[in-house]
Amino acid sequence: MTTDIERRLARELPDYARVVLDSLEAAGYEAWVVGGWVRDALLGRPGHDVDVTTSAPWQDTARVLRACGIEVHETGTAHGTVTAVVDGRPVETTTYRVEGAYSDRRHPDEVRFVTDVREDLARRDFTVNAMAFHPMRGLLDPFGGEKDLASRVIRAVGEPRRRFEEDALRVLRAVRFACRLDATIEPATQDALVACAPELSAIAQERIGQEMDGILATGRAAWALRREFSVLAAAVPELAEMEGFDQKSPYHAHDVLEHTARVCAGVEEFTGGDALPALRWAALLHDVAKPTCWSEDVSGRGHFFGHPEEGARVARRVMGRLAIPGDVTCASSALVLLHDFEIRATAPSMRRMLSELEAAAPGQARPLAFALLDLKRADAVAKAPACMGYAVELDAMSGALRRELAAGAVWRVRDLAVRGADVIRERGIEPGPGVGMVLAQLLEAVKAGEVPNDREALLAWLRW
Ligand code: ATP
Ligand code: MG
Repeated sequence: MTTDIERRLARELPDYARVVLDSLEAAGYEAWVVGGWVRDALLGRPGHDVDVTTSAPWQDTARVLRACGIEVHETGTAHGTVTAVVDGRPVETTTYRVEGAYSDRRHPDEVRFVTDVREDLARRDFTVNAMAFHPMRGLLDPFGGEKDLASRVIRAVGEPRRRFEEDALRVLRAVRFACRLDATIEPATQDALVACAPELSAIAQERIGQEMDGILATGRAAWALRREFSVLAAAVPELAEMEGFDQKSPYHAHDVLEHTARVCAGVEEFTGGDALPALRWAALLHDVAKPTCWSEDVSGRGHFFGHPEEGARVARRVMGRLAIPGDVTCASSALVLLHDFEIRATAPSMRRMLSELEAAAPGQARPLAFALLDLKRADAVAKAPACMGYAVELDAMSGALRRELAAGAVWRVRDLAVRGADVIRERGIEPGPGVGMVLAQLLEAVKAGEVPNDREALLAWLRW
């Protein structure tokens, strides 16, 4: 134990992880904390899951930990991984290993277990992720990860080109960690990354989806779009046409790519960096269909008829392919669909927006209404200076939306203060589709402000 930093890490290492290390070492094996916890703790951001790497073969890990009364799950034994659960906290514990090729682009074909922790560190992707820590032995950092972390540099471990050829997903991981750590990518790593980006086309879509989602979750998608667009376009080919696409419109001062980057930055600004995943995806994809929907009129001005509808279809296709959860996909495509929907700061307009959202993403209208306002506002400020006025108006709309929701806004049939049985009784009609039609008409009347959502008033409307 030497430095202050190592002493701090030893103090911050959670007890539940320390128990795993101590149990393995008491049985004569070597064990270290590795990867994300070490990286984030060095940055003063403890709280990351703890992963342990050990000289013990997984069967021995399981046996030793169970003998200490620790619950062990065999979560990935083909790759040497078991998960210990201490005080309800999972600790992934993996035998030192190196990996072979990834010919199915999902899992390494073979892993070879090794005895030296340095070999295990050498198979890891970036220097900042290739450090191990032990509370007594301190930091093991054979590739200069601590220094790279301090100067915020993403650098491949070993020869970058070879490392990206082994597993092209690392190309996207480099971008994700650069976003996450607000880092730059070291020049040789950057060159290899651009050269190997096309190999992403062979990577399993759900792995790409996880990394893309991870990039968006950092809130720095704008940086990735501006600085690493070739990587993003290789990961999601639908994005490719945004670059350099001149909109030929007085409403747009930028190409679709720069506009999209500004919208991604805008939604973070308006949500204090806490945008919903669906809003982040929608910001990325809201104008994805503009290039395909573009037409030029006789005066040479560009139009994009139908781009929200087509964009919503593209969003569903892309996010479905990338195995993004269905509710997020549905919410994002609803936002894309409605991003150009005209709204005003009035109660009927707010109710119309809520019911459009309800139709496009059932059950999610309330949170999505605020997200849609954030998206529209980011979209307006990212256009041309002439659109600023609309952005200010949109700002007033979140107040109108809040008031409307507080007043018990009605946007679904089930929000109405009457039921189907009331329709049957008051109108003297048979149960069946006719009842639904009457309720739908009634909902329209309430949304338009023609009748209040008050039981007596609704019954009177039905009798009338
Ligand atoms: P996160 O907070 O994003 O999970 P992490 O560092 O835990 O960060 P993981 O993707 O969970 O990242 O991977 C854990 C560790 O495994 C990484 O720190 C890295 O050392 C190694 N690793 C993961 N994926 C790869 C890969 N494709 N190639 C090489 N090493 C990898
Ligand atoms: Mg992790």
